[in-house]
Amino acid sequence: MRKKIVAGNWKMNTLPAEGVELAKNVVAGRGEVCSCVNFIVCPPFTHLSQVIDAVKGSDIAVGAQNCAAEAKGAYTGEVAASMIAALGCEYVILGHSERRQYYGETSETLNKKMAQAYANGLKPIYCVGENLDEREAGKHFDVVKAQIEEVVFNLTAEQFSQLVIAYEPVWAIGTGKTATAEQAQEIHAYIRKVLAGKFGAAAAECPILYGGSCKPSNAAEIFAKEDVDGGLIGGAALKAEDFLAIGKGFAK
Ligand code: PEP
Repeated sequence: MRKKIVAGNWKMNTLPAEGVELAKNVVAGRGEVCSCVNFIVCPPFTHLSQVIDAVKGSDIAVGAQNCAAEAKGAYTGEVAASMIAALGCEYVILGHSERRQYYGETSETLNKKMAQAYANGLKPIYCVGENLDEREAGKHFDVVKAQIEEVVFNLTAEQFSQLVIAYEPVWAIGTGKTATAEQAQEIHAYIRKVLAGKFGAAAAECPILYGGSCKPSNAAEIFAKEDVDGGLIGGAALKAEDFLAIGKGFAK
């Protein structure tokens, strides 16, 4: 059985005290959601430690939103995977479209970041997805295939078994536009087929999350699709009530 995951990407939002309160509210309401759902919260680096403390004793996992491509050294402003892991983080989001778009992350960088994540025992949540022009030109399958081949195909079978993939169409992120459940299923099934071409039966165990304006009102319909194993949630993860309601997209 594949893991069901609802992960919150808080992006550059919340001050430490706000983040702690949000995390505590997620913990407080968690019991209302099926225990089958694995919740992950991904706060900014600055309050990872406090959020890890806030969720201690619960089954809420914590992830970082990025890590450095290098192990350590003279890289001013960067945060190493080893530092994140030392705090008690379990996951790290890599290849988010905002990082690809605004910070020039390429497959080459992402291969290094993935290597750092695995070397330090972090499980990557690797994001793929096409932009609007690519979708309109019918190139979305080729775009996600390349993003997977250039990075995920370099993993060992053991590493692949720890990977989570998030399909996030860039045109749906923070725009209020959501892919239809059918569009999500179509490309998730395609991603799984591409993965199976390299990793065989293990592809059936890889959680593939949908991301892009996912909210309480559309989560259940999207999560009901066979190859959608949950969501990577941006805006709606900033309110515990909405984040938990998205988790209720999986029946208790
Ligand atoms: C995201 O950026 O990962 C995301 C899914 O954002 P939103 O839910 O706000 O569209």
